[in-house]
Amino acid sequence: MTDIIDGNAVAAEIRAGLADGIDTLADAGVTPCLATVLMSNDPASETYVSMKHSDCEEVGIEARDFEIDPEAPAEELYDTIDELNADPSVHGILVQMPVPDHVDEREVLRRIDPAKDVDGFHPENVGRLVAGHPRFKPCTPHGIQKLLAATDVETEGADVAVVGRSNIVGKPMANLLIQKSELGNATVTVCHSRTENLADKTRAADIVVAAVGIPEFITGEMLSEGVTVIDVGINRVDADTEKGYELVGDVEYESAKAKAGAITPVPGGVGPMTRAMLLWNTVKAAGDAEAVDVNL
Ligand code: NDP
Repeated sequence: MTDIIDGNAVAAEIRAGLADGIDTLADAGVTPCLATVLMSNDPASETYVSMKHSDCEEVGIEARDFEIDPEAPAEELYDTIDELNADPSVHGILVQMPVPDHVDEREVLRRIDPAKDVDGFHPENVGRLVAGHPRFKPCTPHGIQKLLAATDVETEGADVAVVGRSNIVGKPMANLLIQKSELGNATVTVCHSRTENLADKTRAADIVVAAVGIPEFITGEMLSEGVTVIDVGINRVDADTEKGYELVGDVEYESAKAKAGAITPVPGGVGPMTRAMLLWNTVKAAGDAEAVDVNL
């Protein structure tokens, strides 16, 4: 029997667990606050931001919404970030990516106060993660660690193939898994588009994390029996549905499930965890800023 890893259930537990920290902050007169900044008309980005707001509302985090015309000069975004950095009532800042081409994405990441960088993408926070003393763990890989722990999948001593080396998923995932820590201590192979004999790497793995951005790219044939499969992918493919599309992962679900000991579905696997860990980082940011122990 394959264990279908229920990301919605684990994310609900994470949100419930944050309630204590939020109560402690409330006792100290603090409401954690996340500011989101959107500089795009892309419907997917708009949806992501609105989901983040409703998640915040649900747990008692204040969410402030800043929207900037995608045609506006880059300075308008930089100035907004500066203002949010300077506002002590804002604990977390999230600039929804991607930003328009005329905006320097690296400048955006550098500009956010690292103490408010709840995505964990500021170079200082990346450095701290690599050095083994993270402040904010990036939401998706941190969520995956929590999913593995909740499923009782041991990372210590496990061989893990991470397919994808992006700064937001693949690289931080690999970094977290190799750390000398409770949810780490794995042996990690990081694969990418220039990897040769990819299937040999994935077949040799006890855990496969697929973050490729290609629908159904990892098939059952590329996996060994009993493997744990974490499918990060979210791909819209045309389908005869009301919306005209459906969401599929980077893993071919049915063939992978036939091999796997445990697998995350899409949707309902990694996605809800990413959202929950953003709340986690925001509560942590508020605790750090206000010197309140929120136990995260
Ligand atoms: P990127 O496009 O930034 O990175 C994709 C990675 O896959 C790259 O490192 C690329 O290699 C690698 N790759 C591409 N083709 C191949 C191939 N043929 N063989 C092996 N590796 C290959 O994507 P992201 O990391 O941002 O996202 C990955 C997926 O996860 C997407 O579907 C995205 O929508 C989803 N996602 C889901 C989240 C969630 O919460 N569930 C959060 C974030 C992302 P190279 O570096 O050589 O180009």
